[in-house]
Amino acid sequence: MRVKFWGVRGSTPTPQAGNLRYGGNTSCVEVRFGDNLYIFDCGTGFRTLGQQLESEAGGKPISAHIFVSHFHWDHIQGIPFFRPLYENSQNQFVFHSSKRTRSLERVMEEQMSSPYFPVDTSEMKAGRNFYDIEEGRTQLDDHARMQTLWLNHPQGCMGFRLETREGVLVYATDNEPGDEVFDKNVRKLAEGADVLIYDAQYLPEEYEARKRGWGHSHWREAIKVVMESGAKELVLFHHDPDHDDRLIDKVVEDARNYYPRVRAAAEGMEVRISAAR
Ligand SMILES: [Zn+2]
Ligand SMILES: [Zn+2]
Repeated sequence: MRVKFWGVRGSTPTPQAGNLRYGGNTSCVEVRFGDNLYIFDCGTGFRTLGQQLESEAGGKPISAHIFVSHFHWDHIQGIPFFRPLYENSQNQFVFHSSKRTRSLERVMEEQMSSPYFPVDTSEMKAGRNFYDIEEGRTQLDDHARMQTLWLNHPQGCMGFRLETREGVLVYATDNEPGDEVFDKNVRKLAEGADVLIYDAQYLPEEYEARKRGWGHSHWREAIKVVMESGAKELVLFHHDPDHDDRLIDKVVEDARNYYPRVRAAAEGMEVRISAAR
């Protein structure tokens, strides 16, 4: 299983010089397992992933399962700019998200409606299927299954655990600690995982001082989750727009004093998970 990061920033894109080493695009993670392509979230990183997929496919059809954790801007803003949705009617995308707030199909129509966007979803020629997912387990193709649980976030956010014969990847972003049920959920998802991608938006001191109730976590909590769940490797994700590269370097350095196998997600970074790890 190969995991590649296309967008790692939280809240809003930050294309500014001091942030470019980790990257300014918002949430989007690509996963390849065998011939299968799984995508977590459609932030602005989704656009560049689309370009890469098209150039790789060379006109052949592209198909993917796309998991959308929730509908805040930083997780959907790349959708109208994902080129594989437009021209090739052979492309097939299966979107998975919860209907609890509304359907993703409606979200896409709304985000591309007048006066917010020049064209609407009727321009998208690719096949699109929308599946409602709630908490539970879903069998995906070829020996892969997905477990989903809710996380603690305004309007909700879904956490994902992808289990394959090559290993287990957990994508759990946008989660605030401190609620008994959700604290348990995130640890359950992460239990024994090979790689845990986790919300580390704030510094612990920022969180304590003024960010309670905003729906996000910090690196100190991320360390707690990885240690308490027995996950093997931690990837800090959803970096704050105001945290520049130097600050994120410092976060990783501090975090490694508590747990050695931690790094910060960066655009273009790849992580491989194999049964032999
Ligand atoms: Zn977010
Ligand atoms: Zn959010």
